[in-house]
This record gives sequence, C-alpha cells and structure tokens, in this order.
Amino acid sequence: MTRPIKIEVDLHSLKKNFFIAQKFAPHSRHFAVIKANAYGHGQMRVAKSLKEAGTHGFALLQLDDALLLRQANLKHQILLLEGLFNEKECLPAIQHEIDFVIHHEDQLKFLESFEVEYLKNDSLKNKQCCVFLKINTGMNRLGVLPNQVIDLVERIRKISYIKEIVLMTHFAFADEVEGVQAQMEVIDFIKNEYYHRFKTNPSLCLANSASLLRYPETHYDWVRPGIMLYGSSPFADKNAEQLGLRPVMTFSSEIISIQTIKAGERVGYGGTFQAETDMQVGIVACGYADGYPRHAPNGTPILVENVRTKLVGRVSMDMLCVDVTHIPNVHVGSQVVLWGKGLPIELVSDASKTISYELMCGITKRVKGYEYP
Ligand SMILES: *Cc1c(COP(=O)(O)O)cnc(C)c1O
Repeated sequence: MTRPIKIEVDLHSLKKNFFIAQKFAPHSRHFAVIKANAYGHGQMRVAKSLKEAGTHGFALLQLDDALLLRQANLKHQILLLEGLFNEKECLPAIQHEIDFVIHHEDQLKFLESFEVEYLKNDSLKNKQCCVFLKINTGMNRLGVLPNQVIDLVERIRKISYIKEIVLMTHFAFADEVEGVQAQMEVIDFIKNEYYHRFKTNPSLCLANSASLLRYPETHYDWVRPGIMLYGSSPFADKNAEQLGLRPVMTFSSEIISIQTIKAGERVGYGGTFQAETDMQVGIVACGYADGYPRHAPNGTPILVENVRTKLVGRVSMDMLCVDVTHIPNVHVGSQVVLWGKGLPIELVSDASKTISYELMCGITKRVKGYEYP
C-alpha cells in the first residue's frame, strides 16, 4: 500500500488559463514563466503543454533547466530571468541560443570579454541571443538605474552575438492598490530618451500576471504570465474563478484514522485545539514534510468527502487533523482535498498568511505525482 498523498496536474486547465492570458494580451508575445519547476507543477510537462497551447517562449531561472527544454527539442525563445550567473555560462547559453537578462553591469562585462572567444569558436557561428536589459524602476530589487540605460544599450549593441535588446522591468505593486503608474512614468521617461538617441522605440517586456490582467498599457512586445497560468489569482480583491482561471494542481490525500474525542480534550502537539463538544477528528496523511504549511491555523478550510471542514490542531510532519464530526459517511480512506479542485488554494494561503505561489512551490518530492524537471 502506498501512502495516499498525491498531486494531480490538470494540463487541460493549464492550457485554458494560457488562452485567458492570450485573450487579455492578444498583441503581445508571451513568455510562460516556468521558474521553480513551473511553480511546483513539473517543468517539462508544463512546457510541453504550453507549447501545444502556442506560447512564444518560456522564462525561468537556471541555465540547466533551459538546456533541458532544448534537449526536449523546444525551439522557443527561452529567457533566463536573472541572467547568467558567471562567465562559464556564456558558451552554453549562446550555443543553445538562450536569451538572458542583464540586470547589473558586471554581467555585461563578462559578455564583453566573451566576444573574443565567440569570434574564434566556429561552433558558435551564426548563434545569437537576445538581451533583456532589466531596469530598476522603483522596486529596488534587480535592475540597472534608468540613467544608465542608454550607455548600457550602446555597449550591448557592440556585442556581435547579441541580435536584439529588449528593455524590461518588474512591477512591485501591480497586484495592489498602488498599481503600476509610478513605475510606468519611469518607463515613459526611458522610452523618450531611447527614442531621442536611437530614433526608434525600444522593445519592452514589463507585465507579470497581475499587470497583464489589470493594466493593458503595460503589455507592449512581451508579457510574462506566471501564477495565472497555474490557475491562481494574483489579486486579493478578485479570485481565480472571477477571472475564469481554473486550478491546475490538486493536492489530495486520505483519512488514515478517525478519533472520537470528548468535549475538553485537546488535539495534536501543544494541544492548540480544544474540543468544545464531543467530536470526531480525522487524521490525514499530509504534513509539512509534504508541503502543507505548518503555520496553517485552526480553522483552515479542508475538503473531506467533498464537504468543506476545518483543520484542527497543529500540522505535524506527516499528518494533520481535521474536524469530521458532521461529515456523512466519513471513513478511513475518505478522500481529502488540501487545495485545488473544489477548494481554491487562496483559501488555504490566506488562512496561512502566505500566498498561493509559496504553497505550490512547496510540494515536496515524496508526494506522488510530483515531477522534476
Ligand atoms: C516570477 C516572475 C514573473 C511572473 O510573475 P507572476 O506574478 O507569477 O505572474 C514575471 N517576471 C519576473 C521577472 C518574475 O520573476
């Protein structure tokens, strides 16, 4: 008998979500963001489905993961969102025509010094990449300063294996009331400067899911949807269903034991839950070592036999407890949905004071159906 915990990944829903992204930004090319093992869904199966759905490209973090896509014969544009981490990555990136971000002048330096080798190396002949120059427009995480852009573009243009430069930024408040306006003002300033200097408009790549859904003025040449593809809303004030998004990951398990307890008795480590009445407690084969958040409090919603009920007591490494007092036909072996179909992941992430992204990425490899890459 295998432990009943599993994830199921609904690739049909993934494609439907991608079509929604396309409908919102029909004139842009889409980089499907598949970093972090496609937000825990399995990089390769997600990439293959999104290829079928018609994505223009893929965005992720690690060169190794990008090379796996090439090995699977995906010829799309692939963007490394944090760029190259050292000069050793230049050769394989160019060889396989993987595009990359430049967010810091140091990355440009090793690209410039690679030029000599590029020109000498016959295997690199006709191989070219695009650079996405990342600009810090106010988030103050990655990116070059707005007033460095023109100089850096001039330097990048001199590198013979770079065929195109796209200006990129990332929004800090696209999912919040503050919105994108302040950062868009910086982009407008840069666009103007760029036009003055080069007599043409720059290509731009700005929008994540929140911005794609809410701010059409940010769409431009490329968009970078991530979370929405996996069927979760980036917003607090609009849920996935309202956006037409369907959950892709369903995380489920089973009841492996049922305890009948009396009013006043407590449940789990530290006894953080105390029964007010006599009740039945179902023990579920799912714990924080599977990726369920340990800090989920009493009352976090859980689905048992398709009935919504509540987590009771502390989540332990391999188990959690759930109130099954009022669930008809509950038995050892009853189906439990932790999140996904029938239980939006946001209900669990909100209760646990985190975001759906973290829960999706947190599924561990001992869970059946987990796949990497
Ligand atoms: C993760 C990421 C995205 C996707 O963001 P979502 O909120 O998941 O749509 C887009 N751009 C960059 C640079 C990212 O790191």
